[in-house]
Amino acid sequence: MNASEHFTLHQLADGVYAAIATELGAGFSNAGLIDLGDQTLVFDAFENPQAAAHLSNACQRLTGRDPAVVIISHWHPDHWGGLQVFAGSSILATQETRVAIIPIVEEIAQDRGNPAHWEAELRETEARLSGETDANKRKALEISISRQRHTLEALPVLKPTIPNQTFEGKIIFHGSQRSAELIATGKGHTLSDCLLRLPQEQVAFIGDIGFFQSQPFMPYGFPDAWVALLKEMAGWDIDTFVPGHGPVGSKTDLALEADYILALEALVGQVVQAGGSVNDALRQTLPEPFATWQVVGHRFEANVRAAFKRQSGN
Ligand SMILES: [Zn+2]
Repeated sequence: MNASEHFTLHQLADGVYAAIATELGAGFSNAGLIDLGDQTLVFDAFENPQAAAHLSNACQRLTGRDPAVVIISHWHPDHWGGLQVFAGSSILATQETRVAIIPIVEEIAQDRGNPAHWEAELRETEARLSGETDANKRKALEISISRQRHTLEALPVLKPTIPNQTFEGKIIFHGSQRSAELIATGKGHTLSDCLLRLPQEQVAFIGDIGFFQSQPFMPYGFPDAWVALLKEMAGWDIDTFVPGHGPVGSKTDLALEADYILALEALVGQVVQAGGSVNDALRQTLPEPFATWQVVGHRFEANVRAAFKRQSGN
């Protein structure tokens, strides 16, 4: 079901949709649409308003109304940069997520007045692409360029918008057709993540607790807590998981992701134990399937650098 160049819609149950970001669209992360029967929830709001506007259209078309509540899964801007489109709805996040978002909104306001560094960064990435011959590296650069172009395009119309309701623990939305459980899971991908569970449909929207068939982004994460949560989720009565990045998946994807986090931490741990440097760690490779995952984007380098700092203390 194609609704937009920014995402593809996947119906998971009657009235429940995953919006999976396209590789070169303005969404960058995934989102969800949940019709509770008498009200609609949106889960995450994409990186840019161009993509969020299409999500808002899809919400009207598929559920007949604007969302009552838009849930923001965590503080990373690729999940809330499009929020202005939903300014008439309640925008809900954990208190820690809201606190982390506020300074970023101020930074964005400054960028709006001075887009020069985005323009410079775009020209630099374009120059790197023209000199790159490796197909996988070209792909990663093409994704970066597309992302930078979408951001530049959005800057003049950006109206930074922040969560106007916060919660701790758990909220249950009791709709006329289904209920949904919003659960703050604490530390994991960030210092405060949340997820939305639909027990009747055995579906969960898990934000960036889930990166499927792609490397998780770990620099702001808490690996032990994250792995523990992924293992706990494996015991839930849920079959379908919508990640923040990558395709809709299952418990197999949760297990693989936990294995990636453990493999990355172990790879860095061995280098630290042997007295090696961060560059020694960066020269290592992960086992399959993670080695294939590591080619797109710069997440491997960011993850190794963060793990090295954490494990070596410098
Ligand atoms: Zn994230």
